[in-house]
Amino acid sequence: MGNANFVKRKSMKYVIGNNKFLEISPKAIEVFEKYKQNHGKNEAGGILLGRCYKDKIVIERVTSPNSSDKAMPTFFDRNREKAQQIVNGEWSYSKGERIYLGEWHTHSEPSPQPSKRDRDMIYNMLKNTIMEIDFLFTIIVGTNDYWVGYQKSKKLTQLKCIKKKVYGCKKFKTTVIIGDSSKLETLKGETD
Ligand SMILES: [Zn+2]
Repeated sequence: MGNANFVKRKSMKYVIGNNKFLEISPKAIEVFEKYKQNHGKNEAGGILLGRCYKDKIVIERVTSPNSSDKAMPTFFDRNREKAQQIVNGEWSYSKGERIYLGEWHTHSEPSPQPSKRDRDMIYNMLKNTIMEIDFLFTIIVGTNDYWVGYQKSKKLTQLKCIKKKVYGCKKFKTTVIIGDSSKLETLKGETD
């Protein structure tokens, strides 16, 4: 596989719109990889926290499941009060800069797709949450890939991953860089 090792060390970048990107920090990816639903594990999930800049939004931290969440192999319901406490804490600690950005949870399928319940959930969260931003993200962590969605008003759009090549996704061929042997070292060995 090798794929997981690759993503662990790097951030991942997705396109939101013209010159606007979503970045997922390595720290967040580490949590996703840890709770990835291999071999009959329960669904896991939590909230997304991060910062908004002019040209990008960065998911800096994601919460891990805790004992007050309800988790089963095909169901996850996070505890609302606990999440609210974390949102409040992060907000004051960062002087109002690190905010709630959405939700994440796992699926036991390689290339996850949002269920009807997932779609309703993020739409309702956006509708019923009082905040400065007018969008939310929902990330579904599959066993092989992530599904990253951007909810704005009534529309949920799947965001495209860029820089996929760097993370060792399929179709990556070894690139030859003439005259720079140091770069070759890092690119080697990810051909599908
Ligand atoms: Zn789901």
